[in-house]
Amino acid sequence: MKTRRNFIRTIGLVSLIGPVQSCAEPKKESTDSPKNSTKPIIISTWDHGLDANKVGYEILAKGGSAIDAVEKGVIVVENDPSNQTVGIGGFPDRDGNVTLDACIMKGDGSCGSVAFLQEIKNPISVARKVMEETPHIMLVGSGALKFALEQGFKKENLLTEETKKDYEIWLTKSEYKPVINIENHDTISTLALDVNGRIAGACTTSGAAWKMHGRVGDSPLIGAGLFVDQEAGAAAATGLGEAVIRTAGSAMVVEAMRNGLSPYEACVEVVQRIKRKHDNLKDLQVGFLALDMNGNYGAYSIHPGFNIAIGDNNGHILVDAKSMY
Ligand code: ASP
Repeated sequence: MKTRRNFIRTIGLVSLIGPVQSCAEPKKESTDSPKNSTKPIIISTWDHGLDANKVGYEILAKGGSAIDAVEKGVIVVENDPSNQTVGIGGFPDRDGNVTLDACIMKGDGSCGSVAFLQEIKNPISVARKVMEETPHIMLVGSGALKFALEQGFKKENLLTEETKKDYEIWLTKSEYKPVINIENHDTISTLALDVNGRIAGACTTSGAAWKMHGRVGDSPLIGAGLFVDQEAGAAAATGLGEAVIRTAGSAMVVEAMRNGLSPYEACVEVVQRIKRKHDNLKDLQVGFLALDMNGNYGAYSIHPGFNIAIGDNNGHILVDAKSMY
């Protein structure tokens, strides 16, 4: 099984991964204090967020929209067959089916979502089509597939040889046990604020590895995996979807920002709420990231290991989120 979140932890809290523009300097040292960032800015979950941010930031730097930046950014990760938690190459459910979930949202409340979508490698773009071309917000399963095909998306086998081998190894024991901070789940969630002050977010995943057939997590659920409001900011989640849904996680983070908390404080508030609702947090990991309308960002998780990628006019960095434990 591939691991991706490796090198950064060995070199410290903040790492500079290559500037977009020539003058790059190390910026914040943690995600726990607000800063006044210059617009535009893009932030994403995990190491793979760097790849998404680089593409998204290029769009933002040219004056492009936040919604284009988040969609085109996460597509990079969906298209990477070596990434086993998003798009093609994603871990299948326990019956061997790769089923994808995604949603996208703009600050004005426009949103679209697909869940339990099979054989289409870019669910985020199907979600955007749901937002733009239908009177609905969410399409699932065969209905989502039918709509995607009508919109010109092509069917593909999403189970790569490498992931199939991992599935066959898993089948020998067929145990489902969520384990924190291993590579069996790592959604990409991306939030962006463009030069015109528009905010948007996207979230896309193959969900928890070895899930029950038909299981849908938080990622395609507006308010759980992602929430965006032009009046308050944006937030997204990664980790065990059931815990995020139980607390309407991302909507609550945005609500906390509306009530005056910084992005970091808002993430802490909702992680604490998750703690109060769960007796045993040992194997439960959830992380939130948030962005306010001034470009301040924050992140927080239950356990260590969660990191976010940040892209703005200083360049691209990865930052480890603080955690409750
Ligand atoms: N939240 C996703 C889910 O539960 C997985 C993840 O973010 O790691 O489907």
